[in-house]
Amino acid sequence: MADIDDTVVEARKVCKFFGKFQALADVDLKVSKGETIVVCGPSGSGKSTLIRCINALEQHQSGDLVVCGIPLSGTRASIDAVRRRTGMVFQNFNLFPHMTVIENCMIAPMKVKGMSRDEARATAERFLKRVHIPEQADKYPIQLSGGQQQRVAIARALSMSPDVMLFDEPTSALDPEMVREVLDTMVELAQGGATMICVTHEMNFARQVADRVIFMDRGAIIEAGEPEAFFSAPRSERAREFLAQIL
Ligand code: ADP
Ligand code: MG
Repeated sequence: MADIDDTVVEARKVCKFFGKFQALADVDLKVSKGETIVVCGPSGSGKSTLIRCINALEQHQSGDLVVCGIPLSGTRASIDAVRRRTGMVFQNFNLFPHMTVIENCMIAPMKVKGMSRDEARATAERFLKRVHIPEQADKYPIQLSGGQQQRVAIARALSMSPDVMLFDEPTSALDPEMVREVLDTMVELAQGGATMICVTHEMNFARQVADRVIFMDRGAIIEAGEPEAFFSAPRSERAREFLAQIL
């Protein structure tokens, strides 16, 4: 299916159940190329489930979800195709502990894309530079600070040249003094034109680069709007309560 427009993610009435529990309820979402979306909401509201469905780590049961032009239909082929085109950054970095930083960044391009070792190394070096840690290439993850590890995770995701980057609370496991370096990296990415969906409660980040903030509660998108409008005048009581707690 050819991309006839700039839509990178389109969800229509997406529902996800864990047993009888409904984690996503009729989620509608359209994300275009180059957009930065911030997803926020209380714990348990379905934020992780939403981005895990978008990169096919979870499968939705009803509704339509099309990612990078690929309808996620539950087939192995659609799952693999979507995973190849999405980059995911987790709260706990999830680096391979037995591989060096640069090996972490080389493995997927070699295994999944069939890149040669030299090409994968050159690509990895480029992205480690992009996240400002080229000098850490030959260290092991455990030798790095949390902020550095998370930047490796970002470089690793970027090394697959994904069409969309998905972030799931990338700074919430970090010591406070390391949050900024990861957010700065994400700001640079957003300003460089990357398409990003970021689950985060870092509202300054949202103010700085988000095109839209999405507020979720109990599996549903309750509000979506420009950051300034959402922060200064949330329409729903639930969003007001949420903002009162985090701001
Ligand atoms: P959030 O990221 O907003 O905190 P999640 O998407 O992780 O929320 O979870 C939404 C709801 O779905 C929660 O109530 C959570 O307990 C439930 N849930 C998430 N993953 C699973 C799972 N694998 N099995 C059962 N319930 C799950
Ligand atoms: Mg979560």
